[in-house]
Amino acid sequence: MTLNYEEVIKVKNSLSFKNQAFINGKYVNSISGKVFENYSPVDGALVTSVAECDIEDINNAVKAARSVFEKGSWSRMAPNKRKKILFKLADLMKKNILELGLLETLDMGKPISAATGDIAACISCLNWYAEAIDKIYDDVAPTRDNIIAMITKEPLGVVGAVTPWNYPLLMAFWKIAPALATGNSFILKPAEQSPLSALRVSELAMEAGVPEGVFNVVPGFGPTAGKALGMHMDVDKLGFTGSTEVGKLFLKYSGDSNMKRVSLECGGKSPNIIFADAPDLDLAAKQAADGMFFNSGQVCDAPSRLLIEKSVKNEFLEKLVEYSKPWMPNDPFQPDTSMGSMVDENQTSRVLDYIETGKSEGAKIITGGEQVRKKSGGYYIAPTIFEGVKNNMKIAKEEIFGPVLCAIDFEGEDEALDIANDTDYGLNAIIWSNDLNKVHKIAKRIRSGKVLVNSMSDGDMSVPHGGYKQSGFGRDKSLEAMGQYTQTKLTWIELK
Ligand code: NAD
Repeated sequence: MTLNYEEVIKVKNSLSFKNQAFINGKYVNSISGKVFENYSPVDGALVTSVAECDIEDINNAVKAARSVFEKGSWSRMAPNKRKKILFKLADLMKKNILELGLLETLDMGKPISAATGDIAACISCLNWYAEAIDKIYDDVAPTRDNIIAMITKEPLGVVGAVTPWNYPLLMAFWKIAPALATGNSFILKPAEQSPLSALRVSELAMEAGVPEGVFNVVPGFGPTAGKALGMHMDVDKLGFTGSTEVGKLFLKYSGDSNMKRVSLECGGKSPNIIFADAPDLDLAAKQAADGMFFNSGQVCDAPSRLLIEKSVKNEFLEKLVEYSKPWMPNDPFQPDTSMGSMVDENQTSRVLDYIETGKSEGAKIITGGEQVRKKSGGYYIAPTIFEGVKNNMKIAKEEIFGPVLCAIDFEGEDEALDIANDTDYGLNAIIWSNDLNKVHKIAKRIRSGKVLVNSMSDGDMSVPHGGYKQSGFGRDKSLEAMGQYTQTKLTWIELK
């Protein structure tokens, strides 16, 4: 999408905000009447006040979602009809792409070009699952002649999702699209930092023809609204994306309530392994910077541990510093800005604290390391690279979730593999090498849900996304995700 600054500002100045909860096809205040203030990290200004949902609001959303599920107006609708409605929703989102992107830029500070790119990715995701639903067949088992044993997939019922702020709509759509496509009712609790785009999409869903009660959005805080959804006795499944710490709470909520199914997309500390025989060191350095500083480093599978083979370390770091320069933060509403703000003041202080920790642990900053654009009133951090990092340092072990890259050096493939696997996380790993035997051996031994070779990108809906170890379990994207929103039924018919 080609963006023009004047047009961006014109649309931004004409924005109005949907700031009530969306339950049973209507915008409503929270039952308590409470609201919370939504500030933009772009300039620190108040955007709007948003309904603060709690247990009673969640109860109402679940009641509506259950009731429409039982009626069958969505859950039993012919798949090719559901498909058309989802296509229409995708079209409406496309018509409103700049507005939806602007809501995300205002909410969490990502550049408008990236924000509209995310909305485009939501649209592709929705179209992908909509296209799939009338092309997937159930099974008949190879049993005795007088038996018909049908193995069918049925929707789960009421699906809840609790999502983070780093990709406000996209992380939600990786769940919304397969869940709605398979006939479930859906309740989204977006992150408190970024509820506005999901609230706007709610009315587009109604306009597209999604029946009332099928799609609900309940803004609010984690320990209240999020917990209420996780603990609800009539929610069949909870899809969570967020930190490992909160992911573990959802397992407890499930155990303490109705044993609802839980899938977890959690944190990461992904290794990006640069061997001296990388096919193109220059490309590897560019992608190391692009992958780390995109979205201000607030990316679950960011390549935040850079493992460099000693013999090419100096050459590689020189290139890397050059490639990090275009990532200096700028005004997120300018179409050519590559890095915008951090999500808020808290996250900014957290990242700055990690930078201080890195220095005190003895790692050396070779670029960045400070807050910038303070006069804007917003929260911006320069792309930062530490070298001389040891894998047992706090900055190498913990997820910083900001534009801070830790360079660790190694000698030989065994050491690279040991360092790569020496982490609690297992979301992503990248290997740069021309040696197919070495690549294949390491790819098989790395304990992570994804291994990317000689490229940083896995941007296609047809492939699964998810983690090993404490990065979570379950998969978003691809046909595998549909299995997370359906359950398997055996119907055994004995003929005379
Ligand atoms: P977070 O865990 O703080 O919050 C995520 C969601 O959980 C929010 O909606 C929040 O309100 C809710 N929440 C917080 N405390 C809760 C509680 N006690 N009970 C119930 N709900 C609660 O995460 P965040 O700061 O929004 O996002 C950053 C994290 O998300 C990072 O760790 C990142 O790696 C992870 N993430 C993972 C993926 C993935 O696909 N694996 C994708 C994006 C982000």
